[in-house]
Amino acid sequence: MTDTDYQAVLEEVAADIAPRIGQGRPAGYIPALADVDPRRFGMALADVDGQVYGVGDWGEPFSTQSITKVFTLALALAHGGHNLWQHVGREPSGNPFNSLVQLEYENGIPRNPFINAGALVVTDRLLGMTGDARGALLEFLRAESGNEAVDFAPHVAESEAAHGERNAALAYFMASCGNMLNPVPAVLDHYFWQCSIEMSCGDLALAGRFLARHGLRADGSRLLSSSEAKQVNAIMLTCGTYDAAGNFAYRVGLPGKSGIGGGIIAVLPGYATLCVWSPGLDEHGNSVAGVAALDRFTTLTGLSVF
Ligand code: GLN
Repeated sequence: MTDTDYQAVLEEVAADIAPRIGQGRPAGYIPALADVDPRRFGMALADVDGQVYGVGDWGEPFSTQSITKVFTLALALAHGGHNLWQHVGREPSGNPFNSLVQLEYENGIPRNPFINAGALVVTDRLLGMTGDARGALLEFLRAESGNEAVDFAPHVAESEAAHGERNAALAYFMASCGNMLNPVPAVLDHYFWQCSIEMSCGDLALAGRFLARHGLRADGSRLLSSSEAKQVNAIMLTCGTYDAAGNFAYRVGLPGKSGIGGGIIAVLPGYATLCVWSPGLDEHGNSVAGVAALDRFTTLTGLSVF
């Protein structure tokens, strides 16, 4: 373990990055997300034993969005979905998270599970394996966070569905290549509800602890082998922040996954899982203050995977 005083570090991080809070812009293309106050900031850390530390708005639920892509991937692998890797790659895309161009050149096989096309493939497979992808995800997140109040936000799911043309285009194109097993409308529905789940930084840090615990769930049972947990962390490091993953790895030095709700989870394998939230996004869709806070955290503590 480390003798780092996590609470003191989080407070120092929050003070240091305060000028960045409010920079960037909340996501605009899902109208229900555009109303969030850009001056919110919270950060939490859950250590491998389940002790939680937090600062700012760390107990306030926000829209998890693409952060859920980590959890659906883990669940699909846990359900035995290893042939998934024939249908989705493990390389950074170098393109925006909702880009269409690469998909046609690459015959409907998305670059990785953390861009929208790849996540749609994962949700499709999880739907096939469980019969209820969004339900399996919600149950898992409630169990791992210990918070039964974790829930979908129907108005966000409906807002996204009403403006979901790009995701629909990605899904139908993949279906045309034979890379969707379920009807596209059903996959899109599960995906939009999945993205709408609201959780706090504290909830997400707890729920992502299996990644720091080499695949062990909160109750000590095994979700993933330690090799699979390493693999998910590796894909987070290389692909978790879209076409800014190289810069994120350079600045933060941790596996991370962002969402356009302004949240980012990051993993210190063997030690802790962190989550930071601030809604102002940069041009890649990553939280400006969130990346700054994780950068500051690893710089102050010297704790990173490098
Ligand atoms: N629900 C969003 C979408 O599909 C998620 C994108 C994100 O968080 N990067 O467009």
